[in-house]
Amino acid sequence: MSTTLRNFIGGEFVDAASGETFAVVDPSTGQEYARAAASGKEDVDRAVAAASKAFEAWSRTTPGERALALLKLADRIEAHADELAEIESRDAGKPLQAVKDDEIGVMADNLRFFAGAARTMEGKASGEYLEGLTSIIRREPVGVVGQIAPWNYPMMMAIWKIGPALATGCTTVLKPAPSTPASTVKLAEIAADLFPAGVLNVVVGGNEPGQAIVEHPDVALVSLTGSVGTGRWIAEHAGKRLKRTHLELGGKAPVVVFDDVDMETALEGIAGAGYYNAGQDCTAATRVLASAKVYDEVVAGLADQAKALVLGDVTAADTSLGPVNNANQYERVTGFFDRAPSHAEVVTGGRKADRPGYYVEPTVIANLQQQDELIQSEIFGPAITVQRFSDEAEAIAWANGTPYGLASSVWTRDVGRALRVSNALRFGTVWINTHIPLASEMPHGGFKDSGWGKDLSGYALEDYTVVKHVMASLD
Ligand code: NAD
Repeated sequence: MSTTLRNFIGGEFVDAASGETFAVVDPSTGQEYARAAASGKEDVDRAVAAASKAFEAWSRTTPGERALALLKLADRIEAHADELAEIESRDAGKPLQAVKDDEIGVMADNLRFFAGAARTMEGKASGEYLEGLTSIIRREPVGVVGQIAPWNYPMMMAIWKIGPALATGCTTVLKPAPSTPASTVKLAEIAADLFPAGVLNVVVGGNEPGQAIVEHPDVALVSLTGSVGTGRWIAEHAGKRLKRTHLELGGKAPVVVFDDVDMETALEGIAGAGYYNAGQDCTAATRVLASAKVYDEVVAGLADQAKALVLGDVTAADTSLGPVNNANQYERVTGFFDRAPSHAEVVTGGRKADRPGYYVEPTVIANLQQQDELIQSEIFGPAITVQRFSDEAEAIAWANGTPYGLASSVWTRDVGRALRVSNALRFGTVWINTHIPLASEMPHGGFKDSGWGKDLSGYALEDYTVVKHVMASLD
């Protein structure tokens, strides 16, 4: 008997209204290992009704009360670390040790940040801006929010969504991606007694409940972390209803390597940030631009790094590369390799790995041109591309020359150049001589087709609030 992952609505675990379920697949084997509630509009209606009811009281709790609940949730995540890591590793296909080492502590820290930040939100001073009239600024929660998550960091994205929403007094209907519902359902279970019924609701399923969330008249804000295509759909349909949106979309991070770098550190850092989570990271160091002088060294060094990865059983302690998350992604990633232009040089990898499950060989593809599909489109797999640039202006033009604008990095010891290039890069994050670290206090979010709105930091809290002006005649 396989487990059935159920919805969490109004404080209760319930089946989908239709009674239908769908298969949840282990990406390491390609085999079904659980079933999940196949939710639809009726389930979303129930969840939004529960969230609307809960909003009345939750929005009036003090920041201190809400912070306490989030702090307790952070403690519970640590207390359930092993179980959560196992669930996430199996569901998403992530190396277990990496979830334990890199994700559990970060999620607890994210929640503790949101708990603290909720109590220190700032606003303009209240005062008399017209004679005899006192103005007061209030920052209020936007209302019921619909939050739609992707499959690459299912549990962490759930935390990034519920943290600022619940901290600011919003109530939420959260929908995990259909291929990775398990850790979000577990999160609801461990959070169940920490929040009043209806504050946190989880609806499991695919695009159908996602669309129902976007179209529901009582959802005030839709927050998506997902692909550009889904972001466009949501922006368009939310726009018709003048609904707020918060869109964290795809990326295609450029990594600009000048010839004065400490090469060993750079190669290790770039490969680490390019192959982590099998490259399924919206900020992955995936698009290397190397100065002509060091191009050959960069290509060869990245290939060595790729070959040193240990692809295998996600529960083994030494595995550094797991499968990609689902059958679609497996075909999508390898489809890019199959369509590589004749001038491309596949230095290593470029194929499905010869084993069950959705494993893709760690790949380096060099000698690419700016308009190639491999440069312009998000691959979202264990693949790093390398291009050769001739000067700083060309590096900047190519780095900025895709529709994406989420994250980027510049590698040089020349401080002036590092800052000049950082200023010219049109990305929500620019790292200098590093790539991928995130801090709870610092914003994460895109420019251009990578979307708008910020996750993490005080800016995320602002996104989940609206400013109200109250003006009073005191005469
Ligand atoms: P996706 O867009 O296919 O799905 C994301 C979520 O949206 C899923 O829950 C899905 O069911 C839902 N969805 C799909 N169509 C919908 C619709 N029309 N209406 C409402 N909901 C809908 O993305 P994915 O493949 O799960 O995730 C990978 C993508 O997410 C990549 O592009 C990646 O770069 C991006 N991502 C971005 C960030 C960021 O912070 N910017 C972080 C992680 C992942």
